[in-house]
Amino acid sequence: MLMMLVGLATCSPVLREGTVTTLDSQVIEKYWNFEGTGFTGTAVALDKVNSKITSKFSVRNFVLNMRIKTIAGAEGFVLFHTPAQGTNIMQGYKVVINNNDYRKGSPQKTGSLSLIRNNFVRTASDDNWFDLQVIVRSNLIKVTVNNKLVTEYIEPLNPKRIPGLEKVILSEGFIILQKSNNNGSIQVQEIKIEPLSADLLRETPDPLSIDETGEALNRLNQLGFPVIDYHGHLKGGLTVEQVCAHGRISGYNYGISPNCGLNFPVTNDSSLVAYFAGMEAEPVFKAMQCEGREWVTLFSPSAISKFDYIFTDAMTWTDHKGRRMRLWMSGETFVDEEQQFMEMLVGKIEAVLYNEPVDVHVNPTYLPAAIAAEYDRLWTPERMDRVIKALKENDVALEINARFKIPSIVFIKRAKAAGIKFTLGTNNADNTDLNRLEYCLKAIGEAGIKPEDIFLPRPSGDKKVLKKGLPSKITG
Ligand SMILES: [Zn+2]
Repeated sequence: MLMMLVGLATCSPVLREGTVTTLDSQVIEKYWNFEGTGFTGTAVALDKVNSKITSKFSVRNFVLNMRIKTIAGAEGFVLFHTPAQGTNIMQGYKVVINNNDYRKGSPQKTGSLSLIRNNFVRTASDDNWFDLQVIVRSNLIKVTVNNKLVTEYIEPLNPKRIPGLEKVILSEGFIILQKSNNNGSIQVQEIKIEPLSADLLRETPDPLSIDETGEALNRLNQLGFPVIDYHGHLKGGLTVEQVCAHGRISGYNYGISPNCGLNFPVTNDSSLVAYFAGMEAEPVFKAMQCEGREWVTLFSPSAISKFDYIFTDAMTWTDHKGRRMRLWMSGETFVDEEQQFMEMLVGKIEAVLYNEPVDVHVNPTYLPAAIAAEYDRLWTPERMDRVIKALKENDVALEINARFKIPSIVFIKRAKAAGIKFTLGTNNADNTDLNRLEYCLKAIGEAGIKPEDIFLPRPSGDKKVLKKGLPSKITG
């Protein structure tokens, strides 16, 4: 039936406030144009690149609901407030549809408000129907996928835009659902649009979204930079929703991890899998922080490989006198002689990187309080290069840690020159110290880190732990 509706456009209709149109309603041809689409019997199919469904009406404020399925890597987008039909100019806002696995297809995933509030977290998967909702109320834009809020953006007065994106602003305009690549098919089972009153009150942006740090983060979004705090913890009663709200205001995604190891809450496969199940639907990366050196004996590769990425540091190890040290606890750390300590530390970092199948080395170059003031002297070029070589040879990304402000900019520049991938990470200790990646922003600027220098998780089936396995005994 829907095939017959193609090309019946005459004059532009006006949607009355409160009107809801659906795909199977008799008025469908009055409100929507179909170009290059097919029909499966139950859904409109966008099989070809640039096939699209375009509204014949222009709208300011609205609630848009779509039920969509992607097949075989199909990607597309929903444009709104685009002032002219059939143009490719970046005008109005674009919501991404892309359920490809990580490192496949485009990095931005479903629900991303493209180049304004980028989303890199997979929120849906190919072959499964998902609900996409876009709400525009005055200067507020919300994007929800399967009832999880992915993007929330309040456009300030006179929003700052980089050249080329000046027209990515709210106005009024058409809605276009378009397929953007050659792969697979986008199927649409339902489109509902409810116009809202054109004169709703403006919302006040959070001051954090437009101060100096906020504008630096906004700019990275506009450059397509994967701004992700890969090292968040639900500590001090912090909830996933609170972490995500902080990320939505600030303009970045989160990776959340439990601490997994000896004497930690997650200490075996069953507690690890239970944690994962509780987080699976959340719009965050699911990470595992591997603790101590004993973790390799506590979990199986199949349980570990469920996670988007895993990471560890070299802050817990046993020294030459058999003392198990935790470097951040002054009562548990022993620096008998600083050069000897540094050699042991670099050796332990190398042992971890060569033996443990981790994706990211976090809290890197951390020194205990007793010698922290001597960081620049003790981290000699030779020691830096040993760590960088171990990162490189084992394909491990280097965290730029926002809380400890490590590694040094000198170290980061050296790692960048060696082609090391980076993550940004906070490692919050409580519910009050999420910060806004200030040290990472400084490092990105001073070391010239580019979007392609940022680590993205390996796709499922390609996890290091599945390929490399776990060491048969602990490494330090
Ligand atoms: Zn941590």
